Amino acid sequence: MSVPHYRVSVIKGDGIGVDVAESALAVAEAAQRRVGGFALDLRPIRAGARYFAETGRDVEPGGEEAAGEADAIFLGAIGWPEIRHPDGTEIAPHLRLRERFQLYAGVRPVRAYPNAPRRLADPRAANIDLVIVRESTEGLFYSAAVHGRSPVVTDDEVQDVLRITRPTTEKLHDFAFGLARKRKARGGVGRVTCVDKANVFNSMAFFRRIFDERRADFPDIEVSYNYVDAQALDLVRRPWEFDVMVTENMFGDILSDLAGGLVGGMGMAACGEIGEAHGLFQPAHGSAPDIAGRDMANPMAAILSAALMLDYLGEKSGNRSLAAAAAVIDGAILDGFTANELRPMEFGGNMGTRDVTRRLIERIEAGP
Ligand code: ATP
Ligand code: MG
Repeated sequence: MSVPHYRVSVIKGDGIGVDVAESALAVAEAAQRRVGGFALDLRPIRAGARYFAETGRDVEPGGEEAAGEADAIFLGAIGWPEIRHPDGTEIAPHLRLRERFQLYAGVRPVRAYPNAPRRLADPRAANIDLVIVRESTEGLFYSAAVHGRSPVVTDDEVQDVLRITRPTTEKLHDFAFGLARKRKARGGVGRVTCVDKANVFNSMAFFRRIFDERRADFPDIEVSYNYVDAQALDLVRRPWEFDVMVTENMFGDILSDLAGGLVGGMGMAACGEIGEAHGLFQPAHGSAPDIAGRDMANPMAAILSAALMLDYLGEKSGNRSLAAAAAVIDGAILDGFTANELRPMEFGGNMGTRDVTRRLIERIEAGP
């Protein structure tokens, strides 16, 4: 019997990106074998700094088009300190993909696991389980990332633009409310916090106004509001009280690093970048040249990102086997940490990338 195939463009990239991408996809395939009901068609695309150094291109010919036709894109990490474009800018084809496919919603789950480091002594920090939804195509990054440069640059003055548009913001808030609803169906609280600076910026008051318009379609979801400065304080003081947060591009950039730091660090920070027709999944960390090629990277961020990808494919296709496979991965990670079987070197443990991967696959194959 033939099952639906989902095509995934795989860009392993540079440094530890290669190792954690291989790890994450091996875990995803283990979950796929366990659950069945679908198959993954993994198609590699060569891209990144090393590829640029060899060929003078940052993505292989046809690679961007192939990524556009895939059901999802999975990326390890891209970048290398010594390898840059002739004008000095970083090799960053993934930013071009974000722009090209208008991946407006950056999804950053932050969750505490037993036996993983926690910065807060309060026992309630064990309950941290939140998601930051960061707008990723406009906001205060608009001038830098999209516009290419600041609109006013003289010797006496430079301006950047904080751009908020209705179409993107409506989609963003709908996405955040939909995510809260999905989490509620799985036992979450079902609340979205709008994080802004509506008391100061017209653009941010507009962001909040659209939030209020869109909430009407989600009466089952609670809402709250926080100014970004207060949110930074609250993420340190009572992060366990938050569910989904939705915010502007730069606010989200800063807050997601802060929140990630509460529960382990770079090696645990997963990321999905979602657009209307495309989704790109990658660990939030970079290529980590200092530990590259030494089997030391924590693959967990990439593995959690692969679980996000399976969930996304499930939602997009309506095939429930994919959500089940994502749940198998999430469950194996939680159980593995609880049993103290997952001890990545990043946390002072004795397990390299391969050991962590092997242990997780064994758990998945053994079943519940
Ligand atoms: P980018 O510019 O892409 O953000 P970066 O140079 O700022 O990259 P990362 O590569 O994300 O930084 O990582 C910073 C440091 O954190 C690394 O040099 C490494 O020591 C550590 N680190 C990052 N990811 C991991 C991981 N998965 N496992 C272990 N350590 C990691
Ligand atoms: Mg960085």
